Amino acid sequence: MAADSESQTVGVVGAGAMGRGIAQVAATGGCRVILYDARAEATTEAIEFINGMLDRAIKKERMTADEAGAAKDRLMPARDMTDFSEADVVIEAVSEDMELKSGVFAALEKATRPDCILASNTSSLSITRLAAACDRPDRVAGFHFFNPVPLMPLVEVIAGIRTEPAIIDRLVELGKVMGRTPVRVADAPGFLVNQVGRGYTLEATNLVDEGVSTFADVDAIMRDAAGFRMGPFELLDLTALDVTHPATVEIYEQSYHEPRFRPAMLMGQRMQAGLLGRKTKQGHYVYEDGKQQRPEEPAAPKFEGGTFWVEPGEDADALKEIVTASGAELETGDSPGADAVILIMPLGLDATTHAARAGLDAARTVAVDPIFDFKGRRTVMKTIVTGAEPMRKAHAMLAKDGTPVTRIQDSPGFVAQRILAMICAIGASVAQNRIATPGDVDRAVKLGLNYPNGPLEFADVLGVSRIVQILDGMAECSGDPRHRVGPWLRRRAALSMSATTEETPARG
Ligand code: NAD
Repeated sequence: MAADSESQTVGVVGAGAMGRGIAQVAATGGCRVILYDARAEATTEAIEFINGMLDRAIKKERMTADEAGAAKDRLMPARDMTDFSEADVVIEAVSEDMELKSGVFAALEKATRPDCILASNTSSLSITRLAAACDRPDRVAGFHFFNPVPLMPLVEVIAGIRTEPAIIDRLVELGKVMGRTPVRVADAPGFLVNQVGRGYTLEATNLVDEGVSTFADVDAIMRDAAGFRMGPFELLDLTALDVTHPATVEIYEQSYHEPRFRPAMLMGQRMQAGLLGRKTKQGHYVYEDGKQQRPEEPAAPKFEGGTFWVEPGEDADALKEIVTASGAELETGDSPGADAVILIMPLGLDATTHAARAGLDAARTVAVDPIFDFKGRRTVMKTIVTGAEPMRKAHAMLAKDGTPVTRIQDSPGFVAQRILAMICAIGASVAQNRIATPGDVDRAVKLGLNYPNGPLEFADVLGVSRIVQILDGMAECSGDPRHRVGPWLRRRAALSMSATTEETPARG
């Protein structure tokens, strides 16, 4: 490949949503770009689209007219793949289908110079498998961009088992030329970002399937308490279930049925039912004129006082303050009086198990999630026998200062604890399996998924020992190995160390 970016020639195969974005950032980065699609009109449309985007960039003063003009001049349509004979790199972005992509790679091997890099933008197919069908697997790699490409700075640079390290170095440099933040990732099911992303949408779907909560309530908790920009079901509606569910199945199969990636039955059923999301105007929400119709939030019950007893523990003082500030009566004895609503704050265990173990009256026990310091939105959870009155009283008291409250059925780990613990567990296993460095795990997830923290940062912010306690409690209650704690988190919790701590090498 030519040493300076101005003289690099980048081929792009597939001029759909991703191919056109990749072509745009390559051209604005100074590369000559040759764009090819099996449908000639798709190439023409893509070039018109990119020119329109560049014109918009001029209007928004993100580019000068000269810069945009130069980028347009660097963009050329290809008649067929023989036009890639001078390319330094070809990036494949055709539809997500192994057979189709293998055919494209076989044709690219014939059409390109021997030193040309062949890269795939696949989201979930194995780079190693794609490369294995090629004569020269050493020059094949993953170059995974995010949608919409010009706005999403991350690119995962993925090494298959037989990819030459120098190829990865060249793609990392090209990623920078294209104005992206490249992250080096080993080939793994879903690579880095899409693997961690399973934790958010799968656990959310599973807990709705178990009858714990509703789509809208889960979204509200994850936005308001956990600080995510979009709830898991809003996100699923945006990406569409016919993209997310098959990708999950692919990741599950590639991982030889790792329980953390087990597809959610409800997601598969809703996909089969055609409730795909925004594009079908009906998903987890209904869309009218492109606008999401959110169910109205029920008003908090009227506050009429009440007596509360707070179980001792790490977060008891903060909850007691909320009780006192509301004007309700706070009992201060070692055990609850006969009429008090009993407030508990389980980590990982469900409310019923926690109340039973503590010898508390489950019928008047209400659990409050302490994981986000009772800020943003408070989650209130029943035991299986909590009465309507204690729930109503707890809801009214907790909403008295204007903080929204969401009530849920019993669940190990409420909603936020449960989803976040899964994200941390998967992020930790990505680090443990050396798919990426701990720093890159956090960096990539924040850039690729817009999470407020990376998975290991989340473990640090919430407490590594607490995350381990939550997962242990969830695993005990559910009996499901997907909730197990892996060695990465358990070891760092044992030493009270940051979840980002790298292991020292055995051979110094
Ligand atoms: P798309 O359907 O928008 O575009 C695919 C394009 O490939 C179409 O224009 C089609 O005509 C063309 N094509 C099909 N067969 C071809 C062939 N043999 N030769 C040349 N062109 C051919 O798809 P997309 O959303 O741009 O996705 C492309 C790839 O990027 C997939 O592997 C997908 O998994 C991956 N990806 C998609 C997203 C996303 O959010 N859309 C994000 C990251 C990665």
